[in-house]
Amino acid sequence: MKVIYPGKVIGIIGGGQLGRMMGVAAKEAGFKIAVLDPTEDSPCGQIADIRIVAPYNDEAALKELAEVSDVITYEFENIDYEGLKTLCETAYVPQGSELVRITQNRMNEKAEITASGAPVADYITAETFEELKSKIDNVGFPCIVKTAFGGYDGKGQVKLDSLEDLDEAEALFKNSPCIAEAFVPFEKEISVIIQRNAAGESYCLPISENIHKNHILHESIVPARVEENVLVKAEEAATKIANHLELVGTLAVEMFVLNDGDIVINELAPRPHNSGHYSIEACNISQFHQHIRAICGWPLRKPKLWAPCIMVNVLGEHVEALNEAFQKYPDWSIHLYGKAEAKLQRKMGHITIMTESIESTLNEIDSTGIWSD
Ligand code: AMP
Repeated sequence: MKVIYPGKVIGIIGGGQLGRMMGVAAKEAGFKIAVLDPTEDSPCGQIADIRIVAPYNDEAALKELAEVSDVITYEFENIDYEGLKTLCETAYVPQGSELVRITQNRMNEKAEITASGAPVADYITAETFEELKSKIDNVGFPCIVKTAFGGYDGKGQVKLDSLEDLDEAEALFKNSPCIAEAFVPFEKEISVIIQRNAAGESYCLPISENIHKNHILHESIVPARVEENVLVKAEEAATKIANHLELVGTLAVEMFVLNDGDIVINELAPRPHNSGHYSIEACNISQFHQHIRAICGWPLRKPKLWAPCIMVNVLGEHVEALNEAFQKYPDWSIHLYGKAEAKLQRKMGHITIMTESIESTLNEIDSTGIWSD
């Protein structure tokens, strides 16, 4: 396993908040950071030693990143796959490009999760709307039709309750082939963040329970309020997937928990994940520090939760009220990502609160009114 030592340069493709938090973790150990992002003042660019301002698929910019970096990682999966593949030939990219190819396309992703032996909802694939119509009986109703490429935060998907709704899915095919999957009547959504180095050593972070509002993560509660046997099953499934994919780096595995305690894998993200931000304060190793360890060929640390905690996302519409409120709450750890414009529903930051009582802290968060719609 190649070891990258402090003082060397870590190149990051993507300059958002995930890159910023990765970069901060890397800089603590004395690494330098180079970032490729199309914007001048990106969250990661603000803390980087070297900024390359260009589109993610700009060949000359990728070449420049390769020249200045000793190791390259990425902070989001919708980067240009072909560009990444070419980069892997000339630069040290321990995560490779395969994981990005797989997770960019829900069809590949479902097939690989199934091949790993982890459970997914029944699904069909369709290149065209006609194919969807002819196969829909194999999955039945209710179901969710999702574009294979480019969907996120609930975009690019429609729920169909019956055959009469079918036409609502037609527009999705303008952008991409689709999958249709059985609607899962889940009780909870949880995520397992698994991190693995090239020697095959892996650890899962404590499992988070995720509450969404308008398809965007609102709160993560850790540990997830599910039975111990669900936690065990969830870790086993994430480990199977990570081993099957020969993961290096970080994989977030989002899952549904049914009322009988069964789990169904929803989707994968090959990078640190919003539901793991809590680990910065609440664990002995954050997802960002562990990611840096994994890609630099360092031994991994066994994660340990110091205290139960809640992470709450701060969107554009919450910033003003938060600025007034946090003076009252010294126990809230405030993270803002340095984004200039507080647009509606834009992720601007998050707070983490460690607590001995999840229920009373949830009530306290509600009582501030900051997050009420
Ligand atoms: P996704 O973009 O696949 O993460 O889906 C966004 C959200 O839609 C999920 O967090 C779920 O709340 C919901 N969802 C997605 N797929 C299903 C499903 N098969 N059954 C029920 N709810 C789903």
